[in-house]
Amino acid sequence: MGLLDKKFNSGGVIITKVDDLINWARLSSMFPMTFGIACCAIEFMTTGTSVYDMDRLGMAPRASPRQADVMIVAGTVTFKMADRIRRLYEQMSEPRYVISMGSCSNCGGPYWEHGYHVVKGVDRIIPVDVYVPGCPPRPEALIGGFLKLQEKIRNESLMAPKALERLMKKQEA
Ligand code: SF4
Repeated sequence: MGLLDKKFNSGGVIITKVDDLINWARLSSMFPMTFGIACCAIEFMTTGTSVYDMDRLGMAPRASPRQADVMIVAGTVTFKMADRIRRLYEQMSEPRYVISMGSCSNCGGPYWEHGYHVVKGVDRIIPVDVYVPGCPPRPEALIGGFLKLQEKIRNESLMAPKALERLMKKQEA
């Protein structure tokens, strides 16, 4: 007899929506890809240290896009890297999410005006769910981004999966 069986021997029941249960499981176990392209990545790495301990949010970094469901774009997106970033994103399975970390990734940052080699925002090549401002953002800010993403996932519905939602938005546009 499992723990749950013992607990509910008295006839107690749990009532919840499938949406809530699945969303709770998803937001409690997000797997970000280990992926850094410039100085912001140093702060991303710091977020994983014992001081900030991002694991306590259920975030366990993965080294393969096939095992990851969150991409944290931490750094300057050059035109040379853009194609690789999109390819990695496409290798992640749905539901997948993107956090844009730092000014470079958000809008080109210090390269906004004269950076001929920099994409002025990673959202020009892949969809972004959460933007974290800063140059670089501190680990606290990135953790704030994780919490925002968790909130977003909490309100998703299985009846409107992300991929379908995006497709519908594209058709409406
Ligand atoms: Fe470096 Fe600032 Fe760009 Fe981050 S936003 S990659 S810290 S220049």
